[in-house]
Amino acid sequence: MKHLVIVGDGMADYPVEEANGKTPLQAAEKPNMDEIARRGRMGMLRTLRPNLPRGSDVANLIILGYDPYSCYTGRGPLEAAARGVRVGDNEVVFRCNLITVEENRVVDYSGGHVTTSDAEVLISELNRRFVNIGRFYTGVSYRNIFVSKWGGGLRATPPHDIVGEEYGKHLLKPDNEESRLLNRMMVESIRILSENQVNIRRRKAGDRPANMAWIWGQGRMPSLEPFSLKHGLRGVVIAAVDLIKGIGKLAQMHVPEVPGATGYYDTSYENKAAYAVKALEEFDFVYLHVEAPDEAGHEGSFETKVKVIEEMDRRLLKKILDSVEENVSISILVDHPTPVSVRNHTLDPTPFTVMKPGLKGDGLPFDENSGLKGSLGLVDGMEIVKLIKSV
Ligand SMILES: [Zn+2]
Repeated sequence: MKHLVIVGDGMADYPVEEANGKTPLQAAEKPNMDEIARRGRMGMLRTLRPNLPRGSDVANLIILGYDPYSCYTGRGPLEAAARGVRVGDNEVVFRCNLITVEENRVVDYSGGHVTTSDAEVLISELNRRFVNIGRFYTGVSYRNIFVSKWGGGLRATPPHDIVGEEYGKHLLKPDNEESRLLNRMMVESIRILSENQVNIRRRKAGDRPANMAWIWGQGRMPSLEPFSLKHGLRGVVIAAVDLIKGIGKLAQMHVPEVPGATGYYDTSYENKAAYAVKALEEFDFVYLHVEAPDEAGHEGSFETKVKVIEEMDRRLLKKILDSVEENVSISILVDHPTPVSVRNHTLDPTPFTVMKPGLKGDGLPFDENSGLKGSLGLVDGMEIVKLIKSV
């Protein structure tokens, strides 16, 4: 049996009063997702840990069976792995967001969703100015990488946690020589990036400037047991965001570049579906990650989240249901909720479904209530790959 696992990042939510108490999953027209759930068995998945960051990195490591207490070192190293960035043993890798600040406050953690081509220009300017402190690498849009021999032991803050707040209160801590050096670099980046032609043009066009380099999520490069050894399955990761691709590469899974996969609302669902179906011909386990629902949750837009789920259903799941062979199990998981009312990740368990030829389904549509009623009950994320193989 081969296995296709589809992860809707941040897709779970809370009931929204303005929508008659429905969640985006309950409000969305999603016949294909519901068909998979009706023919499958449902349950709830515990994907996070109270004393670890509530990030997609921890959640997706756990879902793929990797114990975060032994192999999670931060977000930066995972993204560096996706980009093939060379990192020395004594070096630390940070995620570097290009953010928007105005009047000393964080206005936008994504720098107005700066384009990757604009980010490249800004990143090379930072490399010119801060060559003695570290190296910057371009990633996707506002998600970039910074490598340095300093900063491993410092406390850093994810910028999406401090939107609206004074950035000065959330710089690297505790106060010591390393944090002073790196904080000075971040603060100086504001003047440098604000004067860059890219941001002058963005302002003129009415776009938010990407005018501060904000570093966080740092750690040393982790080592993961190969996925094939851990689960006895040859695995593939189909994803747009470096975080998930990096986990795949560190787990020695196959990670193809999917044209048009952006990690945002304009992603090519069609190409992602086609690559997943193709990969099932050669591999045993395909992990297909969709980032867009999480972006809608962070944006706090119920309408956008419903629209994203409906597009995912029409343009990705339908294509998969129409073209996947009989001997393939299809599972739909959610790595964590990103409720539109919270605009951030929460620790709540998430609904999941496993559909398999010959398996008697629970007959429930795919949403949070069905997950609670599902015959598989509450399952810990570390057990889900085993359960998909054995159920
Ligand atoms: Zn996520």
